[in-house]
Amino acid sequence: MPQPSSICVYCGSSDNGPAAHREAGLQLGRLMAERGIRLIYGGGRVGVMGAVADAVMSAGGAVTGIIPDFLMRHEVGHTKITELEIVDTMHARKARMAELSDAFLILPGGLGTLEEYFEIVTWRQLGLHDKPIAILNVDGYWDRLRDMINGIVDARYARPENMAMTTYVETAEQALNALAQQASGSGHLSSEKL
Ligand code: AMP
Repeated sequence: MPQPSSICVYCGSSDNGPAAHREAGLQLGRLMAERGIRLIYGGGRVGVMGAVADAVMSAGGAVTGIIPDFLMRHEVGHTKITELEIVDTMHARKARMAELSDAFLILPGGLGTLEEYFEIVTWRQLGLHDKPIAILNVDGYWDRLRDMINGIVDARYARPENMAMTTYVETAEQALNALAQQASGSGHLSSEKL
């Protein structure tokens, strides 16, 4: 079972969410470091994203953050990570995060997290990449998202196999195992098409 060597984590930039979300981020970070999986993320020091990055770093792992210049102050660019890349735009940030990652994992977050999830799952739907995607559904936080997408499949605006492109899991350990299991080995991402 090929384990991804890097995982892109999309999650909230706010510190106001439930403590369990932050805790899940910390657990995930520790586990990624233990398994030698590099974290690719948005580069901020705040919210669930900051928790994941801090946990990877304090457990001796590697972290690459990608942040646009204009967000350096707002999301408090994390300076204590392995490397922080500063880019010009949000689009450049997302493209770089996708390019560097072997798999994608969504933790609880807000509208930015949703936007990132929908972009990466629709890119897969269009065949622009075939990298694994999982959602860490902490305390059922993403149940309504799953219901909504099931409704879209019921209405036949998406196919059941598009729904199946995302694996829902409950713990950080299940998330890493699911992504490893899905990894097809090719992990193709066609940057010419994106
Ligand atoms: P949020 O879930 O709203 O806290 O945002 C999570 C991350 O998504 C943050 O790093 C935001 O900068 C980022 N984000 C917000 N809006 C967008 C967007 N339109 N495209 C890509 N990333 C975004």
